[in-house]
Amino acid sequence: MSEQIPVKNVTPPTESGTLYAKRTKIFTKAFTGIFRNIRIAFGAVLFVLFLGTAWINWGDRQAVWWNLPERKFYIFGATFWPQDFMLLSWLLIICAFGLFFITVFAGRVWCGYACPQTTWTWIFIWVEKITEGDRNKRMRLEKAPMSMEKFLRRAAKHGLWLLIGFVTAFTFMGYFSPVRELFPSLISGEASGSVYFWIAFFTVMTYLAAGFMREQVCIYMCPYSRFQSVMFDKDTLIVSYDVERGEKRGARKKGSDYKAEGLGDCIDCNLCVHVCPTGIDIRDGLQIACISCAACVDVCDDVMTRMGYDKGLISYTTEHNLTGSKTKLLRPRLIGYATALLFMIGLFSYNITARTLVELNVIKDRIPYRENFDGRIENVYLLRVINKDQLSHTFTIEATGIEGLRLEGKKTVEVGAGEIYSTPVSLSADFDNLAAGPNKVQFNIKSTDDESIYRVSKTTFIGPQAR
Ligand code: SF4
Ligand code: SF4
Repeated sequence: MSEQIPVKNVTPPTESGTLYAKRTKIFTKAFTGIFRNIRIAFGAVLFVLFLGTAWINWGDRQAVWWNLPERKFYIFGATFWPQDFMLLSWLLIICAFGLFFITVFAGRVWCGYACPQTTWTWIFIWVEKITEGDRNKRMRLEKAPMSMEKFLRRAAKHGLWLLIGFVTAFTFMGYFSPVRELFPSLISGEASGSVYFWIAFFTVMTYLAAGFMREQVCIYMCPYSRFQSVMFDKDTLIVSYDVERGEKRGARKKGSDYKAEGLGDCIDCNLCVHVCPTGIDIRDGLQIACISCAACVDVCDDVMTRMGYDKGLISYTTEHNLTGSKTKLLRPRLIGYATALLFMIGLFSYNITARTLVELNVIKDRIPYRENFDGRIENVYLLRVINKDQLSHTFTIEATGIEGLRLEGKKTVEVGAGEIYSTPVSLSADFDNLAAGPNKVQFNIKSTDDESIYRVSKTTFIGPQAR
């Protein structure tokens, strides 16, 4: 078994008698670096995916559309129905195991690079920088009394934040209501009250979460931050400060013989704290608030380069590496998660490919049987043909199971792509051909244009003998 590593809980102490700690505003400094570029690339892909998939058309409809009133979910070429929700459950389980696997392997990288809360927060921080300036300017502006410049800068920042919040909310709503019709109906006032409510709600939530709550969401609200630490072991990749190398920290002149003065490589510039979006000092050790974004790695590498020292005073490393032991990449827990993940991906893929495109539901009438004008025993049924395919199909309907069984009603039906067709039919049989109990019968539907598309549904035929 892999050993776990201690993760500090940095939840700030509350004042006596109060339940909540006052938030200390964080002024994040701008920086450059390789991990920042990777995060921007990831964020851009996610942002384009989020915005783009609502606008891309697939066939004659929006590529991703959760049509709640009709309970149909279009995801590119496929139509999913409430009956397919088992697949969604599988998908969520796969995502959970994917997250467990990546957490055991590389810590909280999901938070640092792909979590929507982080992605939107970095966008809002960028807006802050272009409207109010970098860290020092923003701190001065915060302290300065209200002036025309301060008012205009603040107005520009909040205006842009609200605009991004609106675009986010509008796009999100576009997954539930056709996005091309949504905007004109919003402007003309023809959209329903619930559409206005949800767009306003998600706009405000985005504005608050990415503009004001930021690291508070990661530290106090996100359940993942609470349990991720128990998944870390001494071979998990974590952002860590090399205490051996860095201490004793202290200022020095570039090129000085700092080792002779008893100093380590950390020049105590505090830049790693100034760029941290959660406002922590990684030199205090691994903390629950660290989202593994590596902003401190980028900025410290830059400092090291400028000082003429080796990079990597803060780096992605493992506890074993830091203590001089060998990191074990392949360990039982990681192999276990990988195996479970691959197994579930395989099962999910099989279920997707083996998913039937046509369903036939047979509902028997409440009246058990009746005798028709020909003296035959008759049972009535309601057939529901569900066509999940992207093409319309014409189906022939047949019934078998009792000698001389006759089907009355439509024998051919055309069902449009993604449509449900319901039709009542009756079956009749001679009294002499019926068994004493319920008789087993089955309805078969077969597509006339594609013989591979067919469905069978079993039901019972009741006669007086069953009484
Ligand atoms: S950025 Fe590097 S050198 Fe500067 S305080 Fe942080 S660890 Fe020390
Ligand atoms: S300590 Fe470093 S890696 Fe952790 S959140 Fe702060 S900047 Fe990101």
